[in-house]
Amino acid sequence: MPAVPANRRDPAGDRPPRPATRSCDVLVVGAGPSGSAAAYWLADAGHDVLLVEKKHFPRAKTCGDGLTPRSVRQLEDIGLGPDLEHHHRYDGLRAIAFGKELLLSWPKHPDFPSYGYVVTRSDLDALVASRAEKAGATLWQGAEAVAPLGPDSGRGGPALGAVVADRDGGGTTEVSARYVVVADGANSRFGRALGASRDRSVPLGMAIRGYYSSPRHAERYIESHLDIRDAHGDVVPGYGWIFPLGDGRVNVGIGLLSTFDRWKQVNTSKLMDAFVAYAPGSWCLSPETALGAPTGGRLPMGLSVGPRVGPDYLMTGDAGGSINPFNGEGIAYAYETGRLAAAALGEALRSGDPAALAGYEARLAETYGLYYRLGSAFMKLMGRGDLMRLTVGTGMYSRTVMEWVLRIMSNLVRDDELGPAEAAYRAIAAIARRAG
Ligand SMILES: Cc1cc2nc3c(=O)[nH]c(=O)nc-3n(C[C@H](O)[C@H](O)[C@H](O)COP(=O)(O)OP(=O)(O)OC[C@H]3O[C@@H](n4cnc5c(N)ncnc54)[C@H](O)[C@@H]3O)c2cc1C
Repeated sequence: MPAVPANRRDPAGDRPPRPATRSCDVLVVGAGPSGSAAAYWLADAGHDVLLVEKKHFPRAKTCGDGLTPRSVRQLEDIGLGPDLEHHHRYDGLRAIAFGKELLLSWPKHPDFPSYGYVVTRSDLDALVASRAEKAGATLWQGAEAVAPLGPDSGRGGPALGAVVADRDGGGTTEVSARYVVVADGANSRFGRALGASRDRSVPLGMAIRGYYSSPRHAERYIESHLDIRDAHGDVVPGYGWIFPLGDGRVNVGIGLLSTFDRWKQVNTSKLMDAFVAYAPGSWCLSPETALGAPTGGRLPMGLSVGPRVGPDYLMTGDAGGSINPFNGEGIAYAYETGRLAAAALGEALRSGDPAALAGYEARLAETYGLYYRLGSAFMKLMGRGDLMRLTVGTGMYSRTVMEWVLRIMSNLVRDDELGPAEAAYRAIAAIARRAG
């Protein structure tokens, strides 16, 4: 083994110290869903990829752990279908509001399965990162990208790679890369160092979750409560969820929207306590069945963070604000945007032309642009408690309406048939398009 330079302590673990310099085709910052998906698709195409993750797997990530059919499709595409079968599969959603309850199965769709899974992020993210490694990516754990290498990177210049700190052994590595994928999540410190910021005209979400032991942990439907209330008993725009994990636990949480006029005054922990007290008693949720304190995080939605394309980098997943504004779902969009980024970078690497990176933004606009604009407009309307009560309260009287709502909100509208959901969606889309 080479001598360890004085400034590089040998890490306590069983690996040799990292080199002072390293180069690669693509450096991926963050091994959450979007970073690992990008790394998988790039490595699978034969590119030299270094994936750096500041934590160690298995690591917790605050999340509802709910995988919709869109997520499952991405996981199956990268060959993880058989691994998912060891986890809790579910068939649809039980929507509850204003004293009414509807059991809604996932719709049939030619491109997506009609089932989802609930998988803790400590299991899921380790699985996908290891899949990227098996495809040929190099994974460094305990490795934090602390700054881009380019001297002008914060002013629109190229990133050129990153200074990567070894959080175990100390010391840093200068990683020079032809391209960088910024997949460092909702806080995206690395993205901000490259000049990214959030468009505040697009609604932001906020969510909090905790685990409980529950006798109903093996239920085949996830549950959403669309009438959560604040301390005054007023309905607030957002929803509460109970997602069964099949292992004795359920993931319980609430999500809220920044379009709500009292958003800044809301204490999410109190709202969570109120939800736990209000949830159906059969789940047995109480301070006694809680498995630790709840934790929360922000949901950057509607492609609200950018610029997502730089001279030599792309931003994916939460770092690009990719969460679906209709329902707060982010895992599927992290996988999908990671995959789209890998396609654009693959093209740039093959052609030798960085202009190919612009194709990423074009694909995002084509895939999500209109749908996300519609979602943001819808969320602004839902921020008005009276409209939310009226819409949800009315919708809950009709199974057909709520089946459309589920399809639209989970982005499972079919292009190949003009059913009622599609007709409604296209009508709203036409209005949104005219409104600009
Ligand atoms: C309470 C809550 C509940 C949610 N529930 C759901 C749900 O049920 N279903 C759903 O689909 N979505 C849900 N979401 C959204 C979902 O969690 C995110 O959209 C998703 O995790 C985004 O994936 P990502 O890869 O972009 O980022 P992340 O999952 O945040 O991954 C980023 C990774 O980068 C690492 N990292 C950060 N900075 C650096 C650095 N400088 N160097 C190296 N590594 C770094 C982090 O450690 C992390 O592993 C929820 C979010 C919250 C807050």
